[in-house]
Amino acid sequence: MTWVIQAVYIVTAFAFIYALKQMSHPKTARQGVVYAGIAMAAAVLVTFLWPGMQNLGLMVVALVLGGGVAWWAAKVVAMTDMPQMVAIYNGMGGGAAGTIAAVELLGGNLEPALAALAALGGLIGAVSFSGSLIAFAKLQRLMKERPITFRGQQAFNLIWLAITAVLGAVLVFTQPVSLIMLFFVMALIFGVLMTLPIGGADMPVVISLYNAFTGLAVGFEGIALSQPALMVAGTVVGAAGTLLTQLMAKAMNRSLANVLFGAFGAVEQEAEIEGEMKPIGVDDVAAMMAYASKVIIVPGYGMAVAQAQHKIKELMDELGKRGVDVKFAIHPVAGRMPGHMNVLLAEAGVPYDKLYDLEDINPEFETADVALVIGANDVVNPAARREGSPLFGMPILDVDKAHNVIVIKRGRGKGFAGIENELFFKDNTRMLFGDAKDVVTKLVQAIKQY
Ligand code: NDP
Repeated sequence: MTWVIQAVYIVTAFAFIYALKQMSHPKTARQGVVYAGIAMAAAVLVTFLWPGMQNLGLMVVALVLGGGVAWWAAKVVAMTDMPQMVAIYNGMGGGAAGTIAAVELLGGNLEPALAALAALGGLIGAVSFSGSLIAFAKLQRLMKERPITFRGQQAFNLIWLAITAVLGAVLVFTQPVSLIMLFFVMALIFGVLMTLPIGGADMPVVISLYNAFTGLAVGFEGIALSQPALMVAGTVVGAAGTLLTQLMAKAMNRSLANVLFGAFGAVEQEAEIEGEMKPIGVDDVAAMMAYASKVIIVPGYGMAVAQAQHKIKELMDELGKRGVDVKFAIHPVAGRMPGHMNVLLAEAGVPYDKLYDLEDINPEFETADVALVIGANDVVNPAARREGSPLFGMPILDVDKAHNVIVIKRGRGKGFAGIENELFFKDNTRMLFGDAKDVVTKLVQAIKQY
């Protein structure tokens, strides 16, 4: 029987890798998720067949409870709350890896190599668990989202980590219960310390980093337990998380060290913005767009909140009928999760070849008659070009270079980073106030008159 179980684990491991490959393209992503789900279910099911497996009842109760909560959460959580959900699931994964490590260590008499792996996995898993919980609390606004800093924080954190690492090193050779407990408490506190000074627009990068941590922790536990499925699943998650972290840090034009230690948005350094916002009506915008030759649509978080993507697709079709060249400019961190805009626009039937990445679309703004910003804010804030601004360095969509800029938003609300946007006050910008879906619906009606 054992060889059957091992064989299933190996097949599962390959299925995970194949599924991840599928997930890398929007057309096959859904299929990839299904394959990964089936593979995970198979790995879990055959685990029940291990000879001498105990506590089967408890395992079933845990699965039903955990699976039930996950099912319910996946149904009710809004797309815009996805980062929090990823953070909490991720934290659970880290917590599970940390708990396995604790059980291994508490079992005592571990060989030094296995004890080292358990301690390393335990440290990373515990940090990922408590760090992810703080990230969840910040994103859910259960606590202050801004970085929490104090004098000498970095030195303090470093010393804390060093002491925890020394405790972990001692555990390699001897595993008294009191030392194991102290080690895990210190690791958990370190996760909190590490996340407190991070905030603002850096949160997505941190969540992705913890994702990579959880993968690593699971991978280490897989080696400690000689479980190929855990090893491969952990390594795949660790590698994918690391790549995503790098990509997101690059999208924000920040180094990972700067994200972790830079305390984004800790100091308010906003320059006074001169001028005022100039409102415009739907009919004027409709005329402007109907007679334009090139329109670039820039969607952001507000489009997701309003669920305006279907109406935006209609807008694209109406403009297309009138010979207007319509393109979509997609910023890598627009919305609240990587690929957020792509997913929503694809769901509404906007063809992929209409979606352009930041580098490809930026040179085109100069030749656009209208840049239509729909619920985007930080990703089009020209303050990012100015040294001293909290957004400095983040690449933005060069919307302000278009002949006319129309911004659809409900009022004077700030973006995720909480800073004012000087784009809204520029001479060539007009504000079309209202909920994105309502406004675009009216805009489509008005354009039909032309
Ligand atoms: P922002 O969060 O900067 O701004 C969104 C704007 O949408 C707000 O100013 C708001 O203004 C407007 N808005 C909200 N609801 C509506 C509505 N119903 N109709 C019309 N407008 C609406 O969004 P961006 O997409 O520009 O930037 C994303 C930000 O989120 C970045 O700072 C990024 O770092 C961060 N982030 C990104 C993640 C990712 O992975 N993509 C994950 C987590 C954070 P008003 O209230 O006036 O309507």
